[in-house]
Amino acid sequence: MTTTKAGAPLDTAAIRAQFPILSREVHGQPLVYLDNAATTQKPQSVIDALTNYYSTMNANIHRGLHTLAEEATAAYEDVRKQVAAFVGAASHREIVFTRNTTESLNLLAYTLGARLRPGDEIVLTTAEHHSNLVPWQLVTQRTGAVLRFIELNDDQQIDVDTARAAINANTRIVSIVHMSNVLGSIAPVAEISEMARAVGATMIVDAAQSAPHIPVDVNDLGVDYLAFSAHKMLGPTGVGVLWGRQELLADLDPFLGGGEMISVVTREESSWAALPHKFEAGTPNIADVIAFGAALDFLNDLGMDAVAAHDAELTHYAVERLSRLEGLDIYGPSDPAERSAVIAFNYRDIHSHDVATILDRSGIAVRAGHHCAQPLMRTLGVPATARASFYLYNERSEVDALVDGLLDAGERFGFERGV
Ligand SMILES: *Cc1c(COP(=O)(O)O)cnc(C)c1O
Repeated sequence: MTTTKAGAPLDTAAIRAQFPILSREVHGQPLVYLDNAATTQKPQSVIDALTNYYSTMNANIHRGLHTLAEEATAAYEDVRKQVAAFVGAASHREIVFTRNTTESLNLLAYTLGARLRPGDEIVLTTAEHHSNLVPWQLVTQRTGAVLRFIELNDDQQIDVDTARAAINANTRIVSIVHMSNVLGSIAPVAEISEMARAVGATMIVDAAQSAPHIPVDVNDLGVDYLAFSAHKMLGPTGVGVLWGRQELLADLDPFLGGGEMISVVTREESSWAALPHKFEAGTPNIADVIAFGAALDFLNDLGMDAVAAHDAELTHYAVERLSRLEGLDIYGPSDPAERSAVIAFNYRDIHSHDVATILDRSGIAVRAGHHCAQPLMRTLGVPATARASFYLYNERSEVDALVDGLLDAGERFGFERGV
């Protein structure tokens, strides 16, 4: 395992050696993986944790009295404690495992939404991923509550002033993205939480991009609920986290009913299990939760401050190099210090799908399209963008490869090479 002293840069060569996929080739070229905002690659320790679980302790958890069931239960519940420590939760009972960020947000929309009345207002931002928009649209259809949106300011950021314009005495729920998966900008969550609290609204944060890239502490943010996905922070697919304040989670009705989430069941009715099991109906994703523990170990060994510094430094370098390319438009805050990890761009009127396809021939993986944020694309006035996104194993040489690949793409479309 690679350890880093506080303040020292990450040793990317040593880190890369622990990710088997990073040594493969694509179209005869070394893989340059710049699609980390969609999902990250997995270190050997995570892959080993998965196979070790199935090879040595596979059993269903919580009900068993035999050794395998006890070992599997302990390993699963240990990861809950690890997650609680990772986000600064007061108790492991505040951590609910779901399938992904999307399911965590749907759980909240379904349970909190049931309490809303016509005219109640739900405040989102215009930069939301569809997973923090569509569940709330469903709520408005059922309840007559209405959506309001925090707009971007002139620098394509969510700020305190644009938030103040959307939050008022009718606001019941504020649910916003912490770090945008398109703009890379980080919203002033603590300040917006205070505004929500002042009007008695519930404050929810979509931390799908922030939890992997910057230290996230629920006390510093002052929020009520937080959602994120294991697969965007070195963990396996199929595991999401919902953190909520214990007294708030205790007060919510269940989302899904079935085994594991009950205490006493009669023919007519049931009582609920204690937190967090009330929200984990049925057999959970035991293997992937346990492997997520290895991903958290990996991040903790590096230190989230060091990860954040690395991602920010690499993003600044990329913004600097890309903005020197003629005909390249970058979206998001103009000051590189205001963003991290994600750069959405368009190049020379070449459709972003063509950009991504041409880059792929050089082994470079970027994403192209609307990035599950169609209203944001409309606000930016573009149908789609290309997006390069970085993580702890990416290096400057990969940014250089991206720049070269874009120049190649320009040439194919008849533009003169040259920066
Ligand atoms: C990826 C992402 C989501 C959705 O995550 P899933 O794991 O697909 O549920 C939500 N919000 C943001 C900002 C994201 O980047």
